[in-house]
Amino acid sequence: MRHTVLDTFQRPLKDLRLSVTDRCNFRCRYCMPEEIFGPDYSFLAKDKILSFEEMERLTSIFVSLGVTKVRITGGEPLLRKDLPNLIQRLSAIDGVKDLAITTNGSLLKKFARELRDAGLSRVTVSLDSLNEKRFSELNGNRGNVKKVLDGIEAATEVGLKVKINMVVQRGKNDEDIVPMAKYFKEKKHILRFIEYMDVGNSNGWKMEEVATKKDILDKINQVMPLQPIEPNYVGEVATRYQYSDDHQEIGIISSVTDSFCSTCSRARVSAEGKLYTCLFATKGVDLRSLLRTEQSNEVVAKTVSDIWNHRVDRYSDERTSDRDVRKNEKVEMSHIGG
Ligand code: SAM
Ligand code: SF4
Ligand code: SF4
Repeated sequence: MRHTVLDTFQRPLKDLRLSVTDRCNFRCRYCMPEEIFGPDYSFLAKDKILSFEEMERLTSIFVSLGVTKVRITGGEPLLRKDLPNLIQRLSAIDGVKDLAITTNGSLLKKFARELRDAGLSRVTVSLDSLNEKRFSELNGNRGNVKKVLDGIEAATEVGLKVKINMVVQRGKNDEDIVPMAKYFKEKKHILRFIEYMDVGNSNGWKMEEVATKKDILDKINQVMPLQPIEPNYVGEVATRYQYSDDHQEIGIISSVTDSFCSTCSRARVSAEGKLYTCLFATKGVDLRSLLRTEQSNEVVAKTVSDIWNHRVDRYSDERTSDRDVRKNEKVEMSHIGG
């Protein structure tokens, strides 16, 4: 039987973001800066990471509590060995209506077909610039644009729906807004611009470096006029727009200047099985130990629903009204995957 579980602000639990690894082959400065995530950084040991069986079981439990959308993330999820096997398991769960992954795209060409065959229908690819030099600077000299574009092409060819995410930082890649918009307008992929966020404790975030929703819209509107369109559903994170001429859609995820906590229905589980009820949470609750001490599904479900019932998170709303809130210790983005 499926329940609806509500938090203290009556927000239902509907989405699960499942991180499958804390490792990544990129070192994007806003997420895993090289000087912190260097050769001495200790990533999770293999036995600390949830197995596919454990992830499948946990996902079924979340589905019994009302989750219908599942997103696989990381770290870089395509680094996890046999990921298509997990996709196959999760897509077979009755009640998972939407299964997607978020990837940096570097290995997508290799895996696109296998992922599609395993039951995946959607993929979100992160790409912050079409300029090789700037892209390389942004990702710690690890990835190249061509590989990511080849990955996008391969995914499209096998029939996966593709969206593109671009994090925009003022002075770093805001000059790429219009070239990216033009390129993906032509390719007919939905491009979503993300305001640079103060996630984790290591990216040295400053408000001055945020290219705001307004900055982004102004830049695009000057060359390709846009008009707003209605959200697809309540709680959609991106505000939608379309170009006036061909109606191709874009989105803006404005968690800094126009936050959307009031409809946030997302739970996050890290690769080691900790449950976080907010992207900016300080602490997670260990679900792995419940799974590994042979607790029943009912006990795990009760733990999750109790946590959700007590959920009070609305960090982005609070940050907008009071900047001091930022002093908290926060979980790293590479642990819970955005
Ligand atoms: N490695 C995969 C990728 O990059 O798509 C999945 C994990 S990554 C943490 C998920 C998303 O979070 C990416 O789209 C990334 O650009 C975004 N992200 C990471 N750090 C961010 C930050 N400080 N502000 C805004 N978005 C961020
Ligand atoms: Fe890796 Fe994604 Fe973080 Fe970049 S944003 S460092 S690709 S996990
Ligand atoms: Fe959800 Fe937390 Fe982001 Fe607000 S700040 S939208 S509660 S994840």
